[in-house]
Amino acid sequence: MKCTSCGAEMLPPTRKDGVPYPCGLRDALLNGVLVHECPECGEEEVDVPRPLELHRCLAQAVAIKPGRLAPEEIRFLRKHLGWSGVDFARRFRVTAQTVSRWEQGKIGMNMQAELLLRMLAPTLPPISAYPDEGAVPDDHQVPRMEIVQRLLDDWSEAVDDPDTPIAMDLRGGTWVGPDAIREVCC
Ligand SMILES: [Zn+2]
Repeated sequence: MKCTSCGAEMLPPTRKDGVPYPCGLRDALLNGVLVHECPECGEEEVDVPRPLELHRCLAQAVAIKPGRLAPEEIRFLRKHLGWSGVDFARRFRVTAQTVSRWEQGKIGMNMQAELLLRMLAPTLPPISAYPDEGAVPDDHQVPRMEIVQRLLDDWSEAVDDPDTPIAMDLRGGTWVGPDAIREVCC
């Protein structure tokens, strides 16, 4: 294997823990991955097996984390869903500028929009196999329905009156309630 920076032959790979994973999330570290190092320029290349599954796992972990989403986590989930900023804005009935401000931390995302984003992110197929046993803790393998149910419960608690329709900043648009969300998600 040749170094992509200088063309020298890379050293045989070594297995490392705590390797930063540049996915846009702070503190995302990979354990047990193979790292190739260039003896000439010091360039490192990391083998990330099954990156798609890894991304799904991260999205699930972010979606069920306690507390509010950080700006980079909002951006991570949006990208995980494959949406541009404009797509996100259109679906959530806000302006692209609002999305940009959420993702830069200039304004807080409203609770309903955040819960919807957190419900949508784990709707991709659940992970059945991880690239490396032990690389990802088992408790990240939360069944999809359990995640959705937990979020629906949080959602219900976020509104004072259960009969009040829940909206996501919709201005004259369609009101979206938990049942409609359940249909979208499950
Ligand atoms: Zn090199």
